Amino acid sequence: MIQDDFVCDKCGLCCRLIGGIAPLAAFDRGDGVCSHLADGNLCDIYDTRPEVCRVEQMFRHVSARMSRAEYNDLMSRSCRFIKEHFTELKGQLKPRL
Ligand code: SF4
Ligand code: SF4
Repeated sequence: MIQDDFVCDKCGLCCRLIGGIAPLAAFDRGDGVCSHLADGNLCDIYDTRPEVCRVEQMFRHVSARMSRAEYNDLMSRSCRFIKEHFTELKGQLKPRL
């Protein structure tokens, strides 16, 4: 069943897995954690954060291929996957030299 809404619970885990994401390379502290992740798992450049961090804008790139409900479902499943596998995913990140 499709979960047709997407709610970010601000767990901050995706902002701790930015290693290898080219548009965020300049923000990587070197351990895969974004240098803009602030207290409370909030983004300290929220209003000017890159496009790749914006759910609404990223939908425009795939809207010809999937409905908004399907996209929201994909986002929700991605977040669940990150929460369930964060330790393994973090372990797969290569430290920046
Ligand atoms: S992993 Fe998902 S729920 Fe957690 S902060 Fe990122 S977008 Fe929000
Ligand atoms: S810029 Fe903000 S939203 Fe994007 S990864 Fe960094 S802390 Fe997260």
